[in-house]
Amino acid sequence: MSRKEALDSIASEIVVCPKCRLSKSRKKAVPGEGSPESAVMLVGEGPGRNEDLQGRPFVGQAGKFLNELLAEAGLTRERVFICNVVRCRPPNNREPLPDEIETCTPYLDRQIKVVQPRLIVTLGKHSTSYFFSKLSLSFRGITNAHGKAEDVSFLGLGLTLFPTLHPAAGLYSAEYKRFLTHDFQQLKGTLEKHRILG
Ligand code: URA
Repeated sequence: MSRKEALDSIASEIVVCPKCRLSKSRKKAVPGEGSPESAVMLVGEGPGRNEDLQGRPFVGQAGKFLNELLAEAGLTRERVFICNVVRCRPPNNREPLPDEIETCTPYLDRQIKVVQPRLIVTLGKHSTSYFFSKLSLSFRGITNAHGKAEDVSFLGLGLTLFPTLHPAAGLYSAEYKRFLTHDFQQLKGTLEKHRILG
């Protein structure tokens, strides 16, 4: 099976997934999208209103800003794979609950095993704390963790973890916008240092 076929098969499970309460209120599940050969994967929190309507990740205001941030790192949407820790919209944009994250993240792990990224950008506290906890790293908040690349072994893959804030944070705080812009400029350096984009 090709990587694309494997990702399509995971996506076909996600769009009909009944495993947690979020499936009851979703319009569309959001499996994630991008090149199956991506060296870089971005993992957000969960779909918002626009994503729930369209079934695609980061298509609202936060997504527009994310596209600008990707450009800071010399990346484009076509060159990365983007998904979330939960695949269905939490009602009223509340944060995902621990049991929803636990139920949904096996899909994330499976996608990581297929894509085999060399670097994962975690967007925000839920995504970052998911990886930190699986790696037994202590998580002391996203404002502490952001911008510090860490070489790790995750699911048997050697990769670089690059935590940053959630792009939505940059839409309501000028300080967080500066952190995010700086982090994605740093990310460009990290990609070059590890020769990740070839
Ligand atoms: N916020 C997220 O965390 N993910 C999306 O897909 C959109 C907004």
